[in-house]
Amino acid sequence: MSLLEKNAALRGLWEKHGAALAAEEGLSPESIVAALEAGTMVLLGNPNHPGLKPILVGQPARVKVNANLGTSPLSNCPTTEARKLKTALDAGADTVMDLSIAGDLDELRAGMLRSCPVPVGTVPMYAAAQKILDADQDVATLNPDDLFEEIARQARQGVDFMTLHCGLTRRGADWAANGGRALGIVSRGGSILARWMLENDRENPLLEQFDRLLEIAREYNVTLSLGDGLRPGAGVDAGDAAQWEEVITLGRLARHALEEGVQCMIEGPGHMPLHQVDGQIRGIKKLTHGAPLYVLGPLTVDTAAGHDHIAGAIGGALGVVAGVDFLCYLTPAEHLTLPDEADVRAGVMASRVAAQAGEVALGTPRALAREKAMNVARKALDWDGMAAAALDPETLHRRREAHKHEDVCAMCGKFCAVKMLRMEKQGG
Ligand code: SF4
Repeated sequence: MSLLEKNAALRGLWEKHGAALAAEEGLSPESIVAALEAGTMVLLGNPNHPGLKPILVGQPARVKVNANLGTSPLSNCPTTEARKLKTALDAGADTVMDLSIAGDLDELRAGMLRSCPVPVGTVPMYAAAQKILDADQDVATLNPDDLFEEIARQARQGVDFMTLHCGLTRRGADWAANGGRALGIVSRGGSILARWMLENDRENPLLEQFDRLLEIAREYNVTLSLGDGLRPGAGVDAGDAAQWEEVITLGRLARHALEEGVQCMIEGPGHMPLHQVDGQIRGIKKLTHGAPLYVLGPLTVDTAAGHDHIAGAIGGALGVVAGVDFLCYLTPAEHLTLPDEADVRAGVMASRVAAQAGEVALGTPRALAREKAMNVARKALDWDGMAAAALDPETLHRRREAHKHEDVCAMCGKFCAVKMLRMEKQGG
């Protein structure tokens, strides 16, 4: 049986949205179905998500950008999160993740699903751990059944994709936490699971009961975003045994999930020096059978606090050339505080620029056509044409506002080089 035969929820979404998605991506429906069946592309969408517009993730579909949102114990304002959601969507985010860890998580999630037409992702471990931490208990007391119930509840609620650290083994947790890393474990969900395994001296329940997870995911076409709980949090930690062991495990799980009718993405690094990005990404794609790769950054330096969206965009662009399909944004607030609206916008735009840069380097017709449209408009000083081609027309208009009636811009005025050589001969 094929993936579409095994997964009725997915089949329903494809039948309803397939033609529109194929037109939008400029791909044939046959090539998309072949990629879905091969597990190199996923159709993100849960039929229980009201008003959802599903998307495709996996090159040659357009590289997608995710914006992380959500409350924290030190900054817990649902109305701010609602405004940040609008900002992320206005800036062109293709998906959002609700990473809330403070307040009424159920209501926050339900509110986001109601008001967000793009796919929504979560990390169910957060909700399971919040109940324990809010009772000042140790997360090592977590009952795995409570975690599976939380996953099932969020699937029923309509969550489209879930980060689940299924490939983080007891051994990997020990290697990463006690094996001499500069930063140990930096993944929030990964650190909770690692503490649970090390304190209880038990294996990862998401790994041991992986088939239980597949039952839930298949029913609602929840795409499993197989988490990189052991991603490097410092450049020097990149490429160690803990990271690669997890990647190999994720590849094995993604293959099994596909055989069982469930879609998967692979989550990837993290902090990584520039010269390692290409090799790492190609290695991860190989070991995970070409499954869609969803990366955080990668962050090419550890020292860009306040500007991590730039460090991440550099790695992201390189990553796209090497095969990354999905960029999780970083904002200027990374490592410092919860992002505000301006951070969200800066983060989405940085990742969209990285995606465009990578796709131009790959020569994708869509990206090249956009570049060409900008060049034609720029040469003609056609500002509406430039706005139509720009990744961020809103900023273009805002920065032009004071001189919008001029055909040149305030950078050069009458020294405009674009205009210089075509000006009529004047005087003697
Ligand atoms: S004024 Fe300068 S910056 Fe502006 S369009 Fe002309 S050459 Fe370009």
